[in-house]
Amino acid sequence: MSKLAYRRILLKLSGEALMGDEDYGIDPKIIHRIAAEVMEAQQAGCEIALVVGGGNIFRGAGLAAGGMDRVTGDHMGMLATVINALAMQDALEKLGGKARVMSAIKINDVCEDYIRRRAIRHLEKGRLVIFAAGTGNPFFTTDSGAALRAIEIGADLLLKATKVDGIYNKDPKKHPDAVRYDTLTYDEVINNGLEVMDTAAFALARDSDLPLRVFDMSQPGELLRILQGEPIGTLVRGRNHH
Ligand code: UDP
Repeated sequence: MSKLAYRRILLKLSGEALMGDEDYGIDPKIIHRIAAEVMEAQQAGCEIALVVGGGNIFRGAGLAAGGMDRVTGDHMGMLATVINALAMQDALEKLGGKARVMSAIKINDVCEDYIRRRAIRHLEKGRLVIFAAGTGNPFFTTDSGAALRAIEIGADLLLKATKVDGIYNKDPKKHPDAVRYDTLTYDEVINNGLEVMDTAAFALARDSDLPLRVFDMSQPGELLRILQGEPIGTLVRGRNHH
């Protein structure tokens, strides 16, 4: 077994990542493929926690734009992340993995409550942990939930899977001459006006010196290669990392 560069990581998947080519909801083929990659990375020896978003079902801000109370909309968005987390748990279990969903909102009949020490214990015992319901509070996002949980469980790396293969100086879909960064510091992200995560998530990660890597999960095998130390995507470094 090749030695991995990371002992424990947190992987953030947006709800849209689970949608595949569908317009809404979950594409079973996509979630199966992602689960297989997570299992492969875990079997290589890394402890893996996941945070899943809910944007493929509901987002509070979108519901509020349609006239709904924002807090109610955010509650619906958080419940959407629980739906995705259950689907991810199922996909991992179908592949023989041991997985536990832990929710920031109490829904005891369908999953565990988030308890930090228990989450760490699950990871130590070789279980995959899926953190659902973000931070449990309205007006936050699952990016904030991912940064928060990564820090709480002492993850060595926060991995953010997106549809773009890293951080560019401008939107690569609109500008063919956009340039991708290999590494950045948190200060460089701010100084260059780059958008990587929302402000709350970004501030948490920066203040805790949490290394963040942004990559494209649709490229098969990249998760494992990143854990083996390959510089795929863009790394945002904390002050004390080089
Ligand atoms: N949400 C929230 N608090 C949190 C995390 C999520 O209120 O701590 C709600 C919010 O409405 C958000 C929705 O859940 O829009 C889905 O999460 P997110 O938009 O982060 O999902 P993603 O874009 O990653 O699919």
